[in-house]
Amino acid sequence: MKIDLHNHSYYSDGVLSPTEVVRLAKEQGCDMFALTDHDTVDGLAEAKTEADKLGMQFIPGVEVSAMWSNMTIHILGLGVDAENEVLQAGLKQHQDFRQLRAEKMARGLGGAGVFGAMEKTQALAKKGMITRTHFAQMLIQEGVCKDMRSVFKRFLTGKKPGGVGGKWAQFDEVIAWIHAAGGKAALAHPFRYRMTNTKVKRMMSDLADNGCDGVEVVTGSSSKDEITLTSQWARELGMLSSQGSDYHGWPHQRIRIGHLLDMPNPENSIWRDW
Ligand SMILES: [Zn+2]
Ligand SMILES: [Zn+2]
Repeated sequence: MKIDLHNHSYYSDGVLSPTEVVRLAKEQGCDMFALTDHDTVDGLAEAKTEADKLGMQFIPGVEVSAMWSNMTIHILGLGVDAENEVLQAGLKQHQDFRQLRAEKMARGLGGAGVFGAMEKTQALAKKGMITRTHFAQMLIQEGVCKDMRSVFKRFLTGKKPGGVGGKWAQFDEVIAWIHAAGGKAALAHPFRYRMTNTKVKRMMSDLADNGCDGVEVVTGSSSKDEITLTSQWARELGMLSSQGSDYHGWPHQRIRIGHLLDMPNPENSIWRDW
């Protein structure tokens, strides 16, 4: 079984439409697939229609930003009911903040000599949501930076031009939204937060204590050591294991849908009852 439970479309910061992402997943041999756009469920209906057409098991998902210990983390909601009002109200708060943040980022970039940032970035955001990825792609297109790495080194983080702190809901609140919508909550890409291993484990433990069901043990960029460690911690903390590529489809991202290293403990997987 090929399973990929973390993918983006142009409803957040991916390049392809939900239909195109689902087709690509099918071409790559996926049997089970989740669309998990940032803070929106707007692409799910389209993705489900295409997945049904192609006979692929579709899991409706969302990737929600959240605060843990004053840091921004990402929590996946898998198997959510997109119509649920609690979830929708929560996501609306985040969408409003994203709009406000985009305007502040554009002002910050203007102060650093990058003019017309909002208009140029808006042109890249096909469905209205403007993310940091869109700003980064704009800076690359304009020749201000050569790649994503240099963008985040010079702009969009901390006290740098265009840096705006996250104002997301607390992690326990986000877990509650996901549960209200009937989904399972899983911490996304635990090793991408610039934390020591000790802190990553503390975060996982804190999330587990607050009802978080699982953690992404295998991501598109995981090393074997990271996978072993996450899987061990998940078992210790009683968390289920998830896996997903975090496919976005921007040029120069080498991630491919469905291409993941093996999960060490598939019997503990988040999809075992699906
Ligand atoms: Zn993420
Ligand atoms: Zn993601």
